[in-house]
Amino acid sequence: MPRVVLVTGSSRGLGASIAKVFLENKDIVYVNYKSSKKNAENLCKNYELAIPFKCDVSNELEVEKMINKIKEEQGHLDIIINNAGIAKDSLVTDKTQLTFSEILATNLIGPFLVCKYGVKIMNKGCIINVASTNGIDTYYPYSLDYDASKAGLISLTHNLAVEYAPHIRVNAIAPGWINTDMNQELAEEYIKEECAKILLKRFAEPDEIAKVVFFLASDDASYINGSTIRIDGGLK
Ligand code: NAP
Repeated sequence: MPRVVLVTGSSRGLGASIAKVFLENKDIVYVNYKSSKKNAENLCKNYELAIPFKCDVSNELEVEKMINKIKEEQGHLDIIINNAGIAKDSLVTDKTQLTFSEILATNLIGPFLVCKYGVKIMNKGCIINVASTNGIDTYYPYSLDYDASKAGLISLTHNLAVEYAPHIRVNAIAPGWINTDMNQELAEEYIKEECAKILLKRFAEPDEIAKVVFFLASDDASYINGSTIRIDGGLK
């Protein structure tokens, strides 16, 4: 039986890689996006069991509608990957209440909303939240809003693991640097400095992270619950 999987923010970057590993496994995947319709549709064209779905995860009504639609079409949901995320780097003094709120709305309140409605149609299965080492111990003041959202997401993960044990496992991953659009504006010199802090001396490719997510969602990870798994190549 194919599993029913929702991957938020899977039109591009890490989310697209995550969606693909499940699709290659012949799972049914809802490829959620906010604005990159073309990307989501192009990804879905290659897979019979891929379903593109527009929804802003920070909008409660839209999230409720998305989950209702999944219930109507599939009857249930097995796996939620809360991957959608944004970052807006700037000097602390240039940040505003509005920009800070936008980050929290997508990166923290979004996963809360998806879980709030999603668990209602999950009998068993798992939730994986895409956090970051920035939510644990790699601090970058120009992304303090992002870092706070990821620390909050790790806390949310642990609370949901308590609430939904034993039938739904809830874990987070904490990647370090990944080669995606999110980092496309970084200066070459800065990337070199960051690579020097990583034991493997390079950023991850999205596939290297997606494979860990796939493992965490599998029965091979049946005893991993309430954990945050670092995948950072040895970032110090
Ligand atoms: P990305 O390339 O910028 O892609 C972000 C994805 O999130 C896009 O598919 C985007 O869809 C979607 N998205 C943004 N806001 C959304 C919303 N409100 N509702 C639904 N979808 C939304 O970023 P990425 O690097 O792949 O990041 C994926 C996740 O990994 C994020 O949670 C990020 O924080 C985390 N992460 C990234 C890194 C890194 O170095 N890149 C490191 C650690 C953790 P649209 O294009 O349709 O807006």
